[in-house]
This record gives sequence, structure tokens and C-alpha cells, in this order.
Amino acid sequence: MNRAALLLLDLLYPNRCDCCGVRIRYDAAVCGQCAGQLADLRTPYAVWAQQQTEAVPWADGAAVWRYADAARSGILAMKDGMRGFGRYAGTALAAEVRAHLPAETVTCVTWTPMGRARRRRQGYAHAELLGKTVARELHLPARGDLLSETDTGTRQHSLTREERIEHAKRFLYTGADVRGETVLLCDDILTTGSTLRRCTELLLDAGAERVYIAVIAAALPH
Ligand SMILES: [Zn+2]
Repeated sequence: MNRAALLLLDLLYPNRCDCCGVRIRYDAAVCGQCAGQLADLRTPYAVWAQQQTEAVPWADGAAVWRYADAARSGILAMKDGMRGFGRYAGTALAAEVRAHLPAETVTCVTWTPMGRARRRRQGYAHAELLGKTVARELHLPARGDLLSETDTGTRQHSLTREERIEHAKRFLYTGADVRGETVLLCDDILTTGSTLRRCTELLLDAGAERVYIAVIAAALPH
């Protein structure tokens, strides 16, 4: 589309910041204020890892923000159907992976899967959008054929740590060949890690050589 058409489109359908809703330029993803807040929220994966008492099955991880303020509202908006924030966050995540993980050893990208019922409720799978954005940025194959989610209807955030571990058993390995692959597993938020732990273990049990995780936000106690 040419610039005049984009400007006209912007007049008819004003572009808004996915984090706070203020009007922004047609080609921007978030407003200046939210971009500043996001810069302040930058938190490496190591900060989350240092607070864990149990060993994790993945080799290492990458994270972009702490789950708070503009990062939180952006992720909620993304889950509400705003794909703009998903692409913005996915691009930031790819840069983080390139900077902090041995990205050149990764052979494919996947993401925590979303079952049919949840996808219907939400309209699209945000972790898939993140994973595909990261895969495109890193020029790696995107594999959505490795894992699946059985529909349970339970919302993860209402569960205790123990319940989350049990609930994570809804994720299953599909049987697709993953032997020898070094997989980058993407998701939106890292909280207790139960979802990513389950998905990582499934991939390793299926013969993946190594798994790295990549999340756009890590939930940390204040
Ligand atoms: Zn904003």
C-alpha cells in the first residue's frame, strides 16, 4: 500500500496503542509512553532463573520483559485478539534470542499449543503468532506439528502450583519426528514454568537434542 492510502486508512480507522489505547501513528505498534515503560521493564531470563529452587529441563532461556504495567496490558490485549502487540513482542523476542542464546545451534521453532476450544474462544493462538514471528526473524522452520493441547476448559491462572503441574498434563506430543533437533520453544508468560516444563520434557522424551525456551514476559515477585 502506498503512503497516501495508509494515511487515508489511518483517518478512517485510527491506529491505537495495544497497551493503553491512545491514538498512535499508523505504522507504530505502541505509543511513546508505553515504549518507555517497556524499556524500563526489560528483564533478562537469568533473573527468573535465579529465583527457582527446582532444576529446569531446558538448556537456557530468553525473556524480554517483567510481567507488569505495559507488558501486562500488551499481553492481555494480545490474548484479546490484538495481533499487533504479538508481532511487536515477537520481534523483540527474536532479538533477545539472538543476543542471549546460541541461536545458530537452534534447528526449529515451536510454541505451546492451543486446543480447539481455547482457540475458538480467543479467535487465534497468540503463542503461535509469537513463535512464527520469531521463526521468521531467525530464518528457522516453524513447527506447529510437535505438540497438542487437550481441551479442559480450566483457566491456568486460577490454579495453585501443584494444580498447574497436574493441569500441564493436557499437553501431549503428537508423534512427529523431532529426533536430533535443537528446539526453541516460545510462549507468552513464564510464571511457575509448569507449562514450559511439561512441553520441554515431551520434546526431550521424543528425542529432541536440546530445548531452549523464549518468553516475552517473566512473572516475578515484587
Ligand atoms: Zn500506550
